[in-house]
Amino acid sequence: MVLLQQSLEPVGAATEIATNVLVKVEDLRKTYGDLVAVDGVSFEVEAGTIFGLVGPNGAGKTTTVECIEGLRNPDGGKVRVFGYDPGSEHRRIYSQLGVQLQENGLHKNIQVREALRLFASMYKDPVPADRLLNEFDLESKAKARYESLSGGQKRKLQTALALVGRPRLLILDEPTSGLDPQSRRDFWTSLERYRRSGLAILLTTHDMREAEDNCDVICIVDRGKVVTSGSPKELLEREQLGTRITVRVDQGDDRGGEATVRQALDRLPGVSRIEAVAGRLHVYGEGDDFFKGALDILREQGLGDMSSRTANLEDLYLILTGRDYQHGETH
Ligand code: ATP
Repeated sequence: MVLLQQSLEPVGAATEIATNVLVKVEDLRKTYGDLVAVDGVSFEVEAGTIFGLVGPNGAGKTTTVECIEGLRNPDGGKVRVFGYDPGSEHRRIYSQLGVQLQENGLHKNIQVREALRLFASMYKDPVPADRLLNEFDLESKAKARYESLSGGQKRKLQTALALVGRPRLLILDEPTSGLDPQSRRDFWTSLERYRRSGLAILLTTHDMREAEDNCDVICIVDRGKVVTSGSPKELLEREQLGTRITVRVDQGDDRGGEATVRQALDRLPGVSRIEAVAGRLHVYGEGDDFFKGALDILREQGLGDMSSRTANLEDLYLILTGRDYQHGETH
């Protein structure tokens, strides 16, 4: 049980570091044989923030957090946690670091409350087990054996266990995968409470919309590289995408064909971008004239199958990478 051993290490001098930056990653590089999993990633995580490392499958998120946790050695670049190297100075950071256990990190027969109490027994001032049971909606499962929990319940317990020791930094890898919508909302509410008390939370997710709604800072990674980073608001304002209208178009340049529709829309005031992905056009723009004008043009072209919504970070990803975030399709 890795965390148990790590948690017993002494606090060291980490608390003396007078900085708000708890994690600093500079030009991180990690390869597995010929595969470059992390290719020059840099970012910082500050106290009191929820930092989301967001990207599709295989982007390098887990490898990055494992380097931060000291579980993997980088091939290049620098990682510092509370100012220390997590590889060679792990003793100095682990008592203030809350990390999620792996799926098989607990004995199958341990009961939920028992696990929380066991972890609590290792700290001077732990978060009480009953409070965590309540916060993570696990009260009815207090006596359930670990093996009998659903995937989502195991995730909740793993997060709760990572919080027992009141860490300064919490690292969670895909904490909301397998949670139902209500559990996801509860999860973010609990995390927000801890964030307000000064905890820094670094988490990975492939759910861009969830990250946009809940993270203070987002770092979008793709194929081992940082695509962009900043607060969700900053990122969206940078491109001024406004509203997105999506319509399915035909091939070719006849009426209703991609080329003709694109040409007609290009002349419309307020249009900021047009992106074509796998038989669909995404038209971005702002203002009533844009919206009404675009709908008129699309109807004139004989196109009826449309939808619209406010542009979000998935649109930013499409614009910056040329790939559709949900389906991975390219232009
Ligand atoms: P996911 O969202 O699917 O978990 P991720 O963004 O966390 O993906 P990583 O798990 O870091 O990405 O993987 C990045 C790349 O490195 C992938 O191509 C993966 O197949 C590869 N990889 C990860 N771990 C190993 C390993 N132990 N040995 C070889 N290749 C690996």
